[in-house]
Amino acid sequence: MALKLQRNDTVEVITGTDKGKRGRVLRVLSDKDRVLVEHVRMVKKHVHPNPQRNIKGGIAEQESRIALSNVQLVCPTCGPVRIGHEERGDRKVRVCKKCGTTLDK
Ligand SMILES: [Zn+2]
Repeated sequence: MALKLQRNDTVEVITGTDKGKRGRVLRVLSDKDRVLVEHVRMVKKHVHPNPQRNIKGGIAEQESRIALSNVQLVCPTCGPVRIGHEERGDRKVRVCKKCGTTLDK
């Protein structure tokens, strides 16, 4: 079964405080229903100084996980869309449900 989202996909947040924000998927969490999206749902995190790794202490901002159901894959022509799956030879690809464009490279 093909994953709904993969690393480097461009997604748009469709609900919550970050609604309308777009970003690149940095990571799909192992439980598969959460992702980290670049610049989305930023949280402040206290960082302990670590001179050995040249890290200054203070407050850093970091992405936090967001549920898959809160984001949609962005189709280049339609914007955020629902995705479907299609067989292409021996592999399954993701397609835009609106225009039918293949969303996998
Ligand atoms: Zn489309």
